[in-house]
Amino acid sequence: MKLNKRLNCSQCLRPQTLCHCHLIERISSDLPIVILQHPDEQNHPFNTARIVRDSIIQSTLLTGTQWSLSEGALSEAMPKRAWPFLLYTGEPIVSVSGIKSEINEHGGTPVAIILDGTWRNTREILLSSPQLQSVPRVALLLPKTSTYAIRKSNVQGGLATIEAAYHLLTQWHENEQYQGLLTPFEYMVAQQRQFVPS
Ligand SMILES: [Zn+2]
Repeated sequence: MKLNKRLNCSQCLRPQTLCHCHLIERISSDLPIVILQHPDEQNHPFNTARIVRDSIIQSTLLTGTQWSLSEGALSEAMPKRAWPFLLYTGEPIVSVSGIKSEINEHGGTPVAIILDGTWRNTREILLSSPQLQSVPRVALLLPKTSTYAIRKSNVQGGLATIEAAYHLLTQWHENEQYQGLLTPFEYMVAQQRQFVPS
């Protein structure tokens, strides 16, 4: 069968010849993740939030700019006695281990919220969602810089959403079982580098 080169995979939205879906591993996490995606990212070919959604069983991907924790899709995605925290920079900041011990002490259900979009997009989401502004902010310890060279602006101090999720889950669970999350992403970056002059 001859593939039409312009046909895109309906799951990763990449051209079928560059599809990375066969590299996606389904993996479980004790920490549920909710990704709030800016609408500009929804059909972006290099968006990596979709890889998180397809890999992490306990993840939810929602698209929009205005979010409330008391009504609508975000509140419905929250478990009972949810203790949400936001992966973001700015004050007040705690570490992943800091928020984990705080939640353990008080007995809530942790939920990580990741904003998906450019720096400007994630600021727009935050400014349009007053309740999110008071959610505790958690910062990652970052051992290395992003490999996301194919896009200039992104979130979490230059990290792609998939990298932010990988570091968050690795730090939360204190093990390396989430390494496989990066495989489809690294494949996407390596393929794209073939088209971009260095
Ligand atoms: Zn695909």
